[in-house]
Amino acid sequence: MKLSHRITHINPDGSDGWEVFEKARRMIASGISVTELTIGEHDVRTDRSILDAMHGAATGGHTGYASVPGIPALRDAIAARVTERTGVPTRRENVLITPGGQAALFATHTAVCNPGDTALMIDPYYATYPGTIRATAATPVAIPTHAEDGFQPRAEDIAALAKGARSLLINSPNNPTGAVYSRETLDGIAKVCIENDLWLISDEVYDSQVWSGDHLSPRALPGMAERTLVVGSMSKSHAMTGSRCGWIIGPEEVISHLADLSVATTYGVPGFIQDASLFALNAGQELETRIAEPFRRRRAIAQEIVGRQQAVGMIPAEGAMYVMLDIRATGMTGEEFAHALLDTHHIAVMPGESFGRSAAGHVRVAMTIEDTAFGAALERLCEFAAERAEVPVA
Ligand code: PLP
Repeated sequence: MKLSHRITHINPDGSDGWEVFEKARRMIASGISVTELTIGEHDVRTDRSILDAMHGAATGGHTGYASVPGIPALRDAIAARVTERTGVPTRRENVLITPGGQAALFATHTAVCNPGDTALMIDPYYATYPGTIRATAATPVAIPTHAEDGFQPRAEDIAALAKGARSLLINSPNNPTGAVYSRETLDGIAKVCIENDLWLISDEVYDSQVWSGDHLSPRALPGMAERTLVVGSMSKSHAMTGSRCGWIIGPEEVISHLADLSVATTYGVPGFIQDASLFALNAGQELETRIAEPFRRRRAIAQEIVGRQQAVGMIPAEGAMYVMLDIRATGMTGEEFAHALLDTHHIAVMPGESFGRSAAGHVRVAMTIEDTAFGAALERLCEFAAERAEVPVA
């Protein structure tokens, strides 16, 4: 029986970029001890107080079908948070609760792209982006960025590909590069979007993890609120990756159509998860700071270790839970390096190529293990790179 082109072409070349991660998982399953620095999963579990709230909500009876756009109290809390953080007046009607940011990425592209439309995205990109866009039957087109710019996109590069496109997907703070887009970068992006009548899909799931500079939501820029859909999530800010609770912020009319899409697809998010998310948001800044703090510490550890050698370079990590390392001095591709490091030292990192062409010759290291082990793994990685460097490095 034939399957649809749409589903068989989510990953058309058979690769989804997760091969090193999957190999590491197989090694772990076969009893090998692997230092796992691949995916963005915190090394702390969801806070006990949030789980207690979840348990209380479930045993209290919130286990039936929940309100599909989201429970009013959670939509209000997210609207208030967005208003406070961005200054853009945001109401319940601007908020749709989704099963995580991933579902929000699919829903937003479905909302704005017709089959075959061009959906632009910035390269390097989060590894699911191309497949997500193809799953909506749109066509992903990557806009290159450059290591020497700290991977901040150039407006002229976006403009060069914007003609006839429907949407542009950006992500700041950025996975995998750690870039936090500057005001100048975002002004340039806004100008291109307005001039080319593009929807802007702004993935801000790392907005609570900013180590230098300030996170600015492009929805707050002049003329952008009516053409921007913001993707948010409880996953990273509250260590709730498995709870699957995220949201979309956008114009009321778009949110109302997106609610129809939710009815037709997920039928919303479980009520006890939404209650727990509301509890977590109401716990305030202190909890978010506590969850983000280990990444701030480990970024400093990485800066110190990488700073004292030359075989590996580090892209300035301004935000998010990763560091992007330049291993081009080894003459290896990121893929070759990641496989060799896993085979010889049982350290698993993501090849830059999993995130697009612009990150070739780099590897992404998730800062998701305890400080001492993290530092030791990075030191080993740098030694490994020095051993393989094409010209001797100090
Ligand atoms: N966007 C980015 C940039 C991510 O890195 C992730 C997860 O790692 C997601 C979206 C999806 O997050 P979730 O679906 O857990 O909210």
